[in-house]
Parts: sequence; C-alpha cells; structure tokens
Amino acid sequence: MFDRPRGTNDWGPQDMPKRRFVESRFVQLAESFGFREVSTPTFENLELFTAKSGPGIVRELYAFKDQGGRDLALRPEFTASVLRFYVSELRSRPKPLKLYSTGNVFRYEEPQKGRYREFFQLNAEIIGGAALPSDAEVLALAIGTMRAIGLKQVKARIGNIGILRGFLPFEPDDQSVILHSLDKRNFEMLDAELVRLGRPDLGAPLRKLVGLSGGVSVLDEAAKVLTGAKNEGFEYLRKLAGLLTAYGVAPSDYAFDMGVVRGLDYYTGMVFEIDSPNLGAEKQVGGGGAYSLAEVFGGERVSQTGFALGLDRLVMAADAEGAIEAPRALDAYVIPIGEGAQAKAVEILTTLRAAGLGADIDLVGRGPSKNLDYANAVGARYAVLLGERELKAKRATVRDMASGAQREVALADLADAVGGR
Ligand code: AMP
Repeated sequence: MFDRPRGTNDWGPQDMPKRRFVESRFVQLAESFGFREVSTPTFENLELFTAKSGPGIVRELYAFKDQGGRDLALRPEFTASVLRFYVSELRSRPKPLKLYSTGNVFRYEEPQKGRYREFFQLNAEIIGGAALPSDAEVLALAIGTMRAIGLKQVKARIGNIGILRGFLPFEPDDQSVILHSLDKRNFEMLDAELVRLGRPDLGAPLRKLVGLSGGVSVLDEAAKVLTGAKNEGFEYLRKLAGLLTAYGVAPSDYAFDMGVVRGLDYYTGMVFEIDSPNLGAEKQVGGGGAYSLAEVFGGERVSQTGFALGLDRLVMAADAEGAIEAPRALDAYVIPIGEGAQAKAVEILTTLRAAGLGADIDLVGRGPSKNLDYANAVGARYAVLLGERELKAKRATVRDMASGAQREVALADLADAVGGR
C-alpha cells in the first residue's frame, strides 16, 4: 500500500462528474464571451515565477532541478505562463486577446480542508482591452460562472489597489510592505512600518479604509477618509458598478471593499475576490484584477486583467448548496443468458451505444440474478435480458431497475424503450 503525497487528492467516479460539470460550465460561458482556450506547460523555468513575485516565492513552489541542471518549477498559477506565451508569441494578434485555461497548479502550502498542494484552477485573462470594459467583462465572467454552476451564494468583494497606491506617499517597495500588512490585516506591522517611514498619521485612515465594505455609497465614505487621494479610482468603481448592472450582475452579488489588496505586488487597479460564504475557513473561491506583468516579461505596456477560480472549492460550494444534478445514469445493462446469446448480446449492446445511450454488458459471465444485483449496484436504469428464446423471437426482456417491472420489447424498439427519459 502506498499513500498519496501530502496535499494531493484522488478523485473517484462520484467526484469526477461534478468536477467536469463545474469545468464545463466555465468553458461554455468563457467561449460564449469570446474567450479562447490556451494550454501552457505544467512546469516552467523557475525564473518566470521569481521575475514575477521575487525570490521569496520559491518556498511556496514545487521547484526542482532537472537532470540537465535546469531550475524548474511546477506552475503555481496560470497568469505567468499565459503572459509569457503572450509576450513571446501572441503579441502581434489582434487585441484584445481573451484567453482561458483550466488545469492543475501546485503550491507548497500547509494542507487543510479546501487547501491542497495540487489543486485546479479556471483561469481567464484579457490582454490589450481598455481597462474599464475589460475589468467589467472579467468580473461578469467570474460571477457568471458561479451562477452558471447554480451557486446561489456569491459574494464578490471589489476594490481598487490604485486608490491605495495613490494614497501612499512612498516608493513602490515601501508601498508593497504597507499593502502586504493591510492584506494580512497585520496592524502591528502596519503601524511599525508607518513609523519607520515617518508617517504614523496614516495608520488611522488606512485602518478605517480597509474596514469599509458595501454598495456604491461606500465609495463616498472611502473618498472622505482618503482626503489626499485622487478621486479617479472611486469614479472608476462607480462606472464599473454601472456596467455590472448592464451585465445583469445583481448588486447583492458584490460589495465594494477597500480592504481587498490581494497578496501580489503586480496588481495595479481594480482587484477582486469572490467568496462562497458557506465554505468556512477556505471560503475564497476566486480572485483577480488588473495587473501589469507583460512589462516584467519584456513586453510593451498593455492593459491586462483576469482571474482564477478554484475548481476544488467551487465543487465543494456546489455540493454544499446541492447545486449539481446527479450525472446521467447508465441506460442499459445487457445480460446475455447462456453461451449462445453472447455474440448477439454484444451486437445489441453496440446498437444501443451507437444510438448515443450509455450501455454496459456482463464481462464476468455471471448468472442472471447476480447480474441484476450488479446492474442495481452500478445504478443502471434498465437491465436488458437476452435469452435464446427471446433472441429467436427478436425480442428482449427489459427490466425497469427502479420498479422491478419487466416487459418484452421488440429488438427494433429497444433503444427507444431504454433511452426514454
Ligand atoms: P489565488 O491565485 O491565490 O488568488 O487563487 C485563486 C483561487 O484558487 C482561490 O480563490 C482558491 O479558490 C483557489 N486556491 C488557491 N490556493 C488553493 C489551495 N491551496 N487549494 C485549493 N484551492 C486553492
């Protein structure tokens, strides 16, 4: 017996239909929004991630040397790979580029419920659109995906990191330290840093600001707290709210929250996080915002915005809300009775499958009653019993597994008999 590595999961036949369902809802919606799929490597040169997030990121990665001595890392997210791909090969494509990816990502984290070392993300990016309509489009896709999955409890928190950056009269590195302490709600660290930077007076307004959350009116309150800040950031969020309404996003699906900072330094404007309130500690199902990464990777300045939703957590949320319908059951389990019926039974099985039905057959050589037990255990809707007598008459016995009712059906009508809903 071998254990799987810590923080990884095996997903069984009960799990996979739910995971595929959630993924397919995202893919359908993204395609309908005009996003197109790209696929990038599961591992990248380590440098890609250190260029993006600094050397400190290495302890959060699965980083390793390959046999040629190259420093590599399993991807911890998609954005860096997609932007690398864009800068190296997609730059001359018509803008905006709207790209999505799905797959596994890897982070060296302390595992707990909903927090794994290998997990799955649904990722979308818009490169080269104007900021406001692109931000609205990615938010509409992120929130719309949750609705398409059938989730009722959706709470997006939308902020604007540009407002905070504009308010902090410090060099970018010092700004980052302050933003980091705000992200972690570490007010001791915040105060200590503000003292170091000679502006302890900023502690009170910053504390007040990150506590503000609500509808559009919160933007007025926040503007009053940050008297020194330029007003454009607030105006931007007001316009964003207008566009979200036009997209059909309900005001109850989101709140403006000046405390959304996101952990990463490369965000520049609108930032958001989405929670599924019933998930407990790991309730954050997604996050994103406007960023500038192409520049870091050697590309020219271009507007970029996007998000990642955590597939594993979306499935947990959908489960908790009972949002996912049971997958389609096997339509027919074919039971040949006697050696002479075997080949004909396979022919009938094949016609059922060709008609687009889910059909399976005895592969063990069990007797009819054991076979019915098995059909029951795998959840088949009908058992199709084929004895030599029935076959001679070009008929089959069809048993409704739920009621136990049996009837004879002409082989020509079999697909209709077991395929009906
Ligand atoms: P992030 O890139 O950190 O904003 O992550 C985006 C989303 O991925 C989060 O909102 C989570 O839903 C999901 N996620 C992040 N880390 C983990 C993890 N360790 N295990 C499972 N899901 C995660």
